[in-house]
Amino acid sequence: MRKIGVLTSGGDAPGMNAAIRAVVRKAIFHGLETYGIYQGFSGLIAGNIKKLEVGSVGDIIHRGGTILHSARCEQFKTKEGQLQGLEQLKNKGIEGLIVIGGDGSYMGARALSELEFPCIGIPGTIDNDIPGTQYTIGFDTALNTVLDAIDKIRDTATSHERTFIIEVMGRDAGDIALWSGLAGGAETILIPEIPGDLKDIARRLEKGMERGKKHSIIIVAEGVTTGTDFAAKLKEETGIETRVSVLGHIQRGGSPTAFDRVLASRLGAKAVELLMEGKGGRAVGIYKDEIVDEDLFSILEKAHDFNQNLYTLSKELSI
Ligand code: ATP
Repeated sequence: MRKIGVLTSGGDAPGMNAAIRAVVRKAIFHGLETYGIYQGFSGLIAGNIKKLEVGSVGDIIHRGGTILHSARCEQFKTKEGQLQGLEQLKNKGIEGLIVIGGDGSYMGARALSELEFPCIGIPGTIDNDIPGTQYTIGFDTALNTVLDAIDKIRDTATSHERTFIIEVMGRDAGDIALWSGLAGGAETILIPEIPGDLKDIARRLEKGMERGKKHSIIIVAEGVTTGTDFAAKLKEETGIETRVSVLGHIQRGGSPTAFDRVLASRLGAKAVELLMEGKGGRAVGIYKDEIVDEDLFSILEKAHDFNQNLYTLSKELSI
């Protein structure tokens, strides 16, 4: 293999730049040429492809977002779009592709692998919802951003003796809500995997108030309901007035944490190694601090691992 490509796709995540940097530098270190494909799969179809040098990825390790930009591309879900993308890769003489993104992006990589083009997936999404890895690139940074917000809101909750509902990202996976809720000492955490029972939540809040607790933090993952809807339901059930804070897109940006930068560097390098070994149709990940790789097809059949122990602990500690 002499020439490889790299693209970022789906929602951006802090640490994607560190992964791009690792791919480019590792490839150049081993004598390969690297091409950046801009705007995800739509840029691939359009042929928006440029050669990346060592200096192209200088001064980006600490930056959030992705220098390659990202996009959602419906056309790539069709065979016609995929064949157009393949044609662009072949025109440039690119022989392998690294796709950094979420599970949707993995499906794009799988489609190219089915057309016998070697593709490696790198898990890049703040949601931490991809099977085949314990952690995705961007999750740790997003978690710390949310935690910072929780800590700040807690100051106001304590001063004004109020209950706050904080809505965080997580459509199908509740990891951001669960981890930030545990780290931030939230009284209640609502996640898509275990949405919780309103009556039970109300009883716990009332019990806390009876023993003199004057403020509470409730974390709601967006996949369960909106913060506003939950506030209305809680008021109907208990009469408790709450304040709602929706964190929104601040969760996706920011300088990546050391953990995300190191993870991205390790995963990026591993993806290049796999292509150099002539492997395709794989995705890289981390398990117990070991960098691993797994069949892309089998990963897409699996569900994301939910950490039941962490959820149980959060319940035990928020009595
Ligand atoms: P996030 O988790 O941040 O949302 P994602 O990678 O899951 O990231 P998606 O929008 O689901 O984000 O997918 C990104 C892109 O991957 C899509 O816009 C499309 O171009 C491509 N893609 C998704 N599903 C398929 C599919 N079934 N076949 C081919 N390509 C696909």
